[in-house]
Parts: sequence; structure tokens; C-alpha cells
Amino acid sequence: MTVRTPLIAGNWKMHKTVAEAEDFIQALLPRVSTADGVDVAICPPFTALAAMVDSTRGSRVQVFAQNMHQSASGAFTGEVSSAMLNELDVQGVVLGHSERREYFGETDRALALKVPAALEAGLAPILCVGETEAEREAGDTERKLRHQVQEGLAKLAPGQLAAVAIAYEPIWAIGTGKVAQPEQAQEAAAFIRALIAGRDGEQAQQARILYGGSVKPENARELLELPDVDGALVGGASLDAQDFAAIVGAVS
Ligand code: PEP
Repeated sequence: MTVRTPLIAGNWKMHKTVAEAEDFIQALLPRVSTADGVDVAICPPFTALAAMVDSTRGSRVQVFAQNMHQSASGAFTGEVSSAMLNELDVQGVVLGHSERREYFGETDRALALKVPAALEAGLAPILCVGETEAEREAGDTERKLRHQVQEGLAKLAPGQLAAVAIAYEPIWAIGTGKVAQPEQAQEAAAFIRALIAGRDGEQAQQARILYGGSVKPENARELLELPDVDGALVGGASLDAQDFAAIVGAVS
């Protein structure tokens, strides 16, 4: 049986100055230093990446960016390349978060290029997918997930699939306090794994599928116990060191 190490990643979005990030990390490190059998990542804004890489060196906490451009360089005002993240020793990158898709026009076509670009640069991608409330009510959840997963992974060789963590984030559960029922999260995660298996069965068993959407210390355990859920992408609750550490501690 494949053992997948769970990943708990905290997406800070547009929160925390460098000074606030330093306060957070000093509070977090002692709280997660003994956590075993779990990978931990924080995803600060670009401005705090360098400071967080420095402050987490030698610890179990990894630092991921929240986005990157697919091109190596060019006239793309406001964007950041994989080489720029590599230079800072960032270890991974969140791609296709629903806020980037909704507010900044992130497309599946761009993500099909970003995912392989991240892997080629040695950055661990977390590819976010998920349906809106209207899509769920219309019975369109699987169609939406199929499209996003297949497009996002389209340009990868089968042997690369397991290196991508896929975060199932129902949009109606992000920042709303509405958490998916465990059966809904399990069903979607199993469906995503089956989609990967359609390309390569062995890689599908190794790939990590995360759940995201109002994960809190109170609900983390029942979500993390689901057979196809291999961790969480945490927004709001990742801004508080005690809450984030409690979610890391919920991995048993
Ligand atoms: C997220 O931003 O990816 C997220 C899941 O946010 P929250 O935990 O606040 O719902």
C-alpha cells in the first residue's frame, strides 16, 4: 500500500507584512517542531517569501509562493517567474487558486503551462480545483473537476503526475465558514484520484489530494481522516499560529 505523507499548507493570501510574518513564524515553529509524519508549508505573499525562507531554514516548515508566471522572463508587469522563486529557495507554489481564477483571469490554458514550468524549476505545485455552489446544485461538480484536472495536468508526462498536489477547494466553502460534508470531500477527492489514474494508476496512488474550504482546528480531524484526503490547504485559520499548529496536529 502506498503511504502518502499528508501536507498541511497555509495560504495567507494578501495578509501579513514582513514584521507580522516574523511574529507568526516565531510562534509557529515551536508548536510544530515535534509533529511527525506530516509536511507543513506556509504560502506568504511575495514580499515576505525571502524573510520566511530565512526564518524557517533548518525547520520542518516549507515556504511556497501563491502564484507564478509560466514564462522564464518577459514583459509581464507585476508577475514573478520560477527562477525568481528558485533564487529565494522557495520550495513550491500554489497554482490556480479560485481567487486568482475569479479576480485575475487565471485560465486553465495558462495553468497547463504553469504546472510543468513549476516542476521543471523544482518547485512543488499545488493545483487548486473546485466547483461553485451553482455548479454543485446543477450536478456539474464532476464535469468541472474533470475539466480543471485534465487541463491542468495535460502537458505532464505520466511519470510527473504524482509530483503535483491537487487541492480540491469547493468555491462555496472558501472563506465562508461552510465546510464540505466529509462525504462530499471524500467523493471529490476519490474522483480526482480516479482522473489521475486514467493517465497512470501508480502515480494516482502516490499523488496527494488536499481538501480546502473553511478548515479549522475543530473540523480538521474528520476531514484529514478521509481515505483520499492527504492534507489541507488552509486559508483563514492559517493566519493564526495556534490554529494552524492545531490543524497540523490533527494529522494522526
Ligand atoms: C483557501 O484560501 O484556499 C481557503 C481554503 O480558505 P479558507 O480556509 O479561509 O476557506
